[in-house]
Amino acid sequence: MPELPEVETVCLALSKILNNSRVRDIEIFRKDLRWNVKENLEKDLKEKILKKPYRRGKYILIPTSKKYILLIHLGMSGTIKIASKEYKVSKHDHFKINVENKENKFFSFVYNDPRRFGYVDFFHIKDIEKHFLLKKLGVEPLGNDFTIRYLQKKIYKKSRCIKNFIMDQSIIVGIGNIYASEILHRASINPLRTVDSLKKEHLKSIIDATKFILNKSINVGGTTIRNHLQPDGKLGYFAQKLQVYGKSKHNCNKCGNMINLIKISNRSTYFCSNCQI
Ligand SMILES: [Zn+2]
Repeated sequence: MPELPEVETVCLALSKILNNSRVRDIEIFRKDLRWNVKENLEKDLKEKILKKPYRRGKYILIPTSKKYILLIHLGMSGTIKIASKEYKVSKHDHFKINVENKENKFFSFVYNDPRRFGYVDFFHIKDIEKHFLLKKLGVEPLGNDFTIRYLQKKIYKKSRCIKNFIMDQSIIVGIGNIYASEILHRASINPLRTVDSLKKEHLKSIIDATKFILNKSINVGGTTIRNHLQPDGKLGYFAQKLQVYGKSKHNCNKCGNMINLIKISNRSTYFCSNCQI
C-alpha cells in the first residue's frame, strides 16, 4: 500500500508531467472503485486545465481550472501510468484521462488498480474542508504542527499501543504499516508500548525518526523517478531501503540482535526486542 513517500513521489513526478495540461476527454471503464465514481465526472473534467498536484495524507490532489480539485487515492494497489496517445487499455485500468500539454503533445494518464480500493473524485475547492475523505485527517508529519505538545494532547489518558497510534490517520497522516515499523526502530521504541507510558524525550525521538525516515524515502523515490521514468512508466511504487520491515531473522543493524516478527491488530510488525524499549 502506498504510504506518504510514495504518494509524494507520484505528486512530484506528476507536477513535471502535467504542467498545465488540458483534459481533452476521459474514459471510465469501471465506476465501482472503493466508492462509486461520480456520474458526471467525464463531463465535468473535460477541458479543465490540470495544475500542480500536491499531497494531503495519502491523497493526490490536482487543482484544475474553475477552482475544482481532482482527488486520486491509490488505495492498496493503485498506480498511475503516463502513456502515449496510442496506449492500449490493459487489465485493471479503470480510467484514462487524455491530455494535451502546453506543447500540443497528447498523452494519457491511466489509473490501474487490481484490488479497486482506490478512488477518484472531482469537487469544487469550497468543499475541500468538508470532503468525507479529508475532513478527519490529522497533522502532516513533515509539517510544523507535528510537535511534542500535539502528541501529548492526543495521548492524554490513552492506553493504546504506539504503533497503532502513529498509523491512525486522524492523528498523523501518511504513515502505514511499513514505515511504522521503520520509524519505531529508528526511535528505539517498542511498537507494543502504550502511549501513556511515553515521556517527552520518547515523543521527540518519534518525531525526529518520522521526519528522517519519510524524508529519506521521498529522496529515494525522487531518485528512482529521475533514473527510471519512462513514457509508459508506472508511478506509485519504488524499491525502499528498509531496515526492519520484512527482515525477520535478520540481524538488527543497531545491536546485532535478531529482528522479531509479531502481529499487532493483525498486521505484521517487525522490531528488535533488544534495542526497542
Ligand atoms: Zn537492535
